[in-house]
Amino acid sequence: MTFVTNLECIECGETFEKEGIHYLCAKCGGNLEVIYDYAAAGEEWHRYEVKKGNELSIWRYAPLLPVEPISFGGLNVGWTPMIESERLKELLGMPYLSLKDDTQNPTASLKDRATAIALARSIENKADVITCASTGNAASSLSGLGASIGAKVKIFVPETAPKAKVAQMLLYGADVFKVKGSYDDAFDLCIKATEKFGWYNRSSGFNPYLSEGKKTVAYEICEQLMWNPPDAIVVPVGDGCIISGVHKGLKDLIEIGVISEMPRLIAVQADGANSIVKAFESGNEIGTASGKTIADGIAVSKPRDGVKALRAVKETNGYALSVSDEEILEAVRTLTKTSGVFVEPSAAATLAGLIKSLGINVLSKGDRVVLLLTGHGLKAPEAAIGDLKATIIEPDISNVEKVLEGEYA
Ligand SMILES: [Zn+2]
Repeated sequence: MTFVTNLECIECGETFEKEGIHYLCAKCGGNLEVIYDYAAAGEEWHRYEVKKGNELSIWRYAPLLPVEPISFGGLNVGWTPMIESERLKELLGMPYLSLKDDTQNPTASLKDRATAIALARSIENKADVITCASTGNAASSLSGLGASIGAKVKIFVPETAPKAKVAQMLLYGADVFKVKGSYDDAFDLCIKATEKFGWYNRSSGFNPYLSEGKKTVAYEICEQLMWNPPDAIVVPVGDGCIISGVHKGLKDLIEIGVISEMPRLIAVQADGANSIVKAFESGNEIGTASGKTIADGIAVSKPRDGVKALRAVKETNGYALSVSDEEILEAVRTLTKTSGVFVEPSAAATLAGLIKSLGINVLSKGDRVVLLLTGHGLKAPEAAIGDLKATIIEPDISNVEKVLEGEYA
């Protein structure tokens, strides 16, 4: 059983029944949040002894999830490792830095956490088809986990979505619409298709259940640090759905008394897709940005979960900052070659953001910091490789010798 009581609009407070399908607030268009009976959920959590559970996936946190667990044919969603890279710690002079490696999910991104919940909801609602708009990772996730249970998946991505992510979607068997336009155009078209054809929609910042999956990464970070939460978690931000999910997870744990301190949430955007940062700095409402950046996973002009994301930053005494494409590229290389974790540009933005945060005294080197690594490097290698080149030689050992001696031209 679940302990969900209802859904609530974060803008106007209107409440909605937990039964049926709800997306945005029918009264004001705001984002909805899933509300639990925390007293009952907390009691079940402690009885269930989540700390000792042998379910090494997101389902170990069943008391605070809004759906009954379902199986993805042996694909394991969540319970990804925390990496302690001594080389990266040493390079940065940060003895308490950890990497939450969510590239190790079944389709190689954090989005699998949200997809798992969305697929379970689509089954509960007897939906024939499930759809989503995505910059790439959410769609490859929906296609992959969908394939494991035989779901019919329809995808809307911008025409520029990275080849590797589109290859995942097609090979997993989804129907893929490449939209001639931006992610925002793909998003709007996906909503129109949902309304016209009655499909179930798993789009970020639209479906309130996605945060309920993404929040499990916050549970894991706390559990893997022996329920001693870090001082700060650095999160890449596009739509804002991941950081709001992390915030929800931390609030849940405080609500049921599992942790007492709220970590600071540091939102990192790309300079070309910095709507939330601009709103954080100016105090104005969230506007739009060009959305242009090499970090395709956070290339969002109009953040659909921006209000929740800003709230996550403000309520945790956090910070929002943006980094340039050059800083992101440098971070991909640094992170990958010091830790051995191969990340895509949007995930590496966290390291660029951390370095910038240290420079402006938002964080200190002695802080206990977790970088949330959201997507695998094999998903978007073209952008990250830049001008790095291998040495091309004739197949002769003398040529290898010449290269080693610096004589090969
Ligand atoms: Zn409302």
